[in-house]
Amino acid sequence: MSIQPIRLFGDPVLVTPAIDVVDFDKELRTLVADLTETMLEAPGAGLAAPQIGVGLRVFVWDIDDALGHLINPTLDLSEELQEGEEGCLSFPELSYETPRAFRAVAKGWNMHGEPVTIEGTELLARCLQHETDHLNGILFIDRLSSAERKVAMKEIRQSEWFGLAASSGSSPMIKVSPHDPFGRGV
Ligand code: ZN
Repeated sequence: MSIQPIRLFGDPVLVTPAIDVVDFDKELRTLVADLTETMLEAPGAGLAAPQIGVGLRVFVWDIDDALGHLINPTLDLSEELQEGEEGCLSFPELSYETPRAFRAVAKGWNMHGEPVTIEGTELLARCLQHETDHLNGILFIDRLSSAERKVAMKEIRQSEWFGLAASSGSSPMIKVSPHDPFGRGV
């Protein structure tokens, strides 16, 4: 197990759709452990495999003191929406009001290849949507209105970290003070 560098916005891996896990083997269990350890260290509320440079459909979360992970997820969403601030470990120190479904049911597999269903509202639902988006190469700024996205992009371009990801090939580790997109980034 090891803590991995978190890729920042600008890294192409973040906009590349991840592929399904086929082998539920020891390497997968190591990936889940690395994701979990990296998320806890950040600290974050969730982390998807592309955020550590691995293009597989795997993510982890830490919500309400419960750790979880899900592999090859599919999502069912409520029509009812929720409002709330959202952030992302790949966008240090930034958060935006991001509309999401209030309730989500995620189906997938655990690292042992057993089918699991995760049902959540509010924060957990938001996290399941945010992380599944990561697996599809979709980022939370893509969920903003075009006007809000413009504001966000301006702040991103002005941020200290922007440009580091693309220029260095792999993202540097950046320590930031814990911010407040539901307490932690995802
Ligand atoms: Zn994220």
